[in-house]
Amino acid sequence: MKACVIHAAKDVRLDTRDEAPLADGEARLSFAYGGVCGSDIHYVSHGRVGDSVVRDPMTLGHEFSATVAEVHPEVTGLSPGTKVAVNPALPCGGCAFCREGRTNLCTNMRFMGSAARRPHQHGGFAERPVVAASQCIPLPEDADLRHVAMAEPYAVALHAAALAGDLSGRIVLITGAGVIGQLLAVAARRAGAAEIVMADVVPAALDRSRELGADNVLNSGDPREVTAFLSEPRIDVAFEASGAPKAFDLCIEALRPAGTLLQVGFLPPAAPITMAKLLTRELRILGTYRFVDEFAEAVRQIVDDEVDLRPIISADMTLNDPNAVFRTAQDKVNTLKVMVHF
Ligand SMILES: [Zn+2]
Ligand SMILES: [Zn+2]
Repeated sequence: MKACVIHAAKDVRLDTRDEAPLADGEARLSFAYGGVCGSDIHYVSHGRVGDSVVRDPMTLGHEFSATVAEVHPEVTGLSPGTKVAVNPALPCGGCAFCREGRTNLCTNMRFMGSAARRPHQHGGFAERPVVAASQCIPLPEDADLRHVAMAEPYAVALHAAALAGDLSGRIVLITGAGVIGQLLAVAARRAGAAEIVMADVVPAALDRSRELGADNVLNSGDPREVTAFLSEPRIDVAFEASGAPKAFDLCIEALRPAGTLLQVGFLPPAAPITMAKLLTRELRILGTYRFVDEFAEAVRQIVDDEVDLRPIISADMTLNDPNAVFRTAQDKVNTLKVMVHF
């Protein structure tokens, strides 16, 4: 079968891989649609995401939907032909965090398409990926598998919104108008936010944000706009989704006293950030990482048509030419989510 494999920085290939026999508890899937994530892009451009360095060839991808092709004879509750959403997280279930129900913080986490551990955990961008049957959520026959492939990044947004506490009537700032920023806007709106301000340094991303329903936009690269915006700090909750230190500072400056900042984007390891107002405004700063039960909830909302995330998909491409896919996905001016298929 064909698989989209990262070998090193700037070396992504469509390789041919053997199909191994299924082990107990496993299912072989037929790939339907996959979303290219910022972390996939990072692996391709830098050969790493934070501390996770690609040391051996690894199949990319953790956002995908599929149809069941084959299950191990011992597997129950899943049969060939069933459409599924795939949860890319495989927590251990036994560590202190898993036992507390905070499985996203599992200290033995195996996450698809991640080089955090060695051997690396292969991802789903393969014609017939093998997963644990427990990772599959069966879907109705008429489910839109392309839309379902948005469940994983949407789960990230739902988790961040849940950590923010009660958002009803709140004024929300989102920095970073990429895919996660747009999904945060959807999640915050559903949670009752009164006003959503989207900030970015790319004017085209702000135009898109307006079309996708932001109430206000802020060009955070324009000092005059920023000064006017900060004249009265009135943001209740800020979601920092860009990973840019300057955006973090902007969130701190924009929050009213007792406001909350949620860090959703990866900041660089030694980011120069300004925290002076943390004390005098009694701000709360929380990190938010991946998701817990929000994956199943994201799938449910998508399947029940409670949200329409399709406008956030900006391109559909075949994985036959991975380099073309990643060139398109890296274009922050013209691209939001790139959806791939075989
Ligand atoms: Zn992702
Ligand atoms: Zn665990």
